[in-house]
Amino acid sequence: MAYDSNNIFARILRGEIPCNKVYEDQHVLAFHDIHPQAPTHILVIPKGAYVSFADFSERATPDEITGFFRAAGLIARQAGVDATGYRLISNHGRDSHQDVPHFHLHILAGRPLGPLLLRQG
Ligand code: AMP
Repeated sequence: MAYDSNNIFARILRGEIPCNKVYEDQHVLAFHDIHPQAPTHILVIPKGAYVSFADFSERATPDEITGFFRAAGLIARQAGVDATGYRLISNHGRDSHQDVPHFHLHILAGRPLGPLLLRQG
C-alpha cells in the first residue's frame, strides 16, 4: 500500500492540523488521542512516512526504530503509568481496523483495561 501523504497524521506532522503534543524529538511525535479510550491515551508516531507497523518494521532505519521504541518507553514513564501498567496497541491493515494509514502506537492506561480482545459469541 502506497503512503497517502494527506492522511491526518501526515497533516499533523506538517503543522496543518493541531495536536495536543506530549513529546517530540528528531524521529518521533506523540500526542493525546482525540477520542480517548482510557484516562491516558497517547499516540506515538514516527516522523517518517510509514503506512503501518509492517511498513515501519521493514523499511525504517535502525536509528528510527530504536528512537521510536525508546521514545515510547520514555513517554509512558513521563505519563506516570509505569507503576500501574499500560497497554501498547498498533493496528495494521483491514482486520485490525486500522483507520489512519500512518504507523502509530497507542499507549493506553489509567484504569484496568480488561482482556486483550472482546470475546466473540
Ligand atoms: P487506528 O484505528 O489504530 O488507526 O487509530 C487511529 C486513532 O487516531 C483513533 O484512536 C482516533 O481517535 C485517533 N485520531 C484521529 N484523528 C486524530 C486527531 N486529529 N488527533 C488525535 N487523534 C486522532
